[in-house]
Amino acid sequence: MSVQSILALKGSAVTTGDPSMTMADVTRCLAEQRIGAIVMTDPSGGVVGIISERDVVRAVAGGGTDVLSQPASRFMTASVVTCSPGQSLHELMDMMTRGRFRHVPVVHHGKLVGIVSIGDVIKHRIAEIEREAEEIRNYIATA
Ligand code: AMP
Repeated sequence: MSVQSILALKGSAVTTGDPSMTMADVTRCLAEQRIGAIVMTDPSGGVVGIISERDVVRAVAGGGTDVLSQPASRFMTASVVTCSPGQSLHELMDMMTRGRFRHVPVVHHGKLVGIVSIGDVIKHRIAEIEREAEEIRNYIATA
């Protein structure tokens, strides 16, 4: 299964934000959208960072609630690992395991076209395993 086929099922919507938004805005956005990360973009739509709930926890643990008035750019990860639509589910799992993160923005020709979370990966991997098991059961039944 490819990243493209995951996006075909879940859609290409990505919650993005401006790095100048405050950490209070970040927490509000994460809570309201029920998501775990916001992709930060520049005015031309290029990916310039990612901020996840883990960054918020770290920021508040280190600086208290005063950090809520500070810009997300201070706490986001600027070196974002992205993938392309043609990459496989296995490549994505490998990226997430090695990088210890749970979100991968999808970029095609420099444009943000989607995001895959670890929840999406698990959901599609389970469906893939169930399909394979069904195929094996059918093969055994007809052999
Ligand atoms: P997460 O597991 O997605 O909540 O993120 C854990 C940490 O990795 C946080 O510091 C995020 O800013 C960072 N992070 C999340 N996704 C990515 C990514 N695709 N590339 C680089 N860093 C990331």
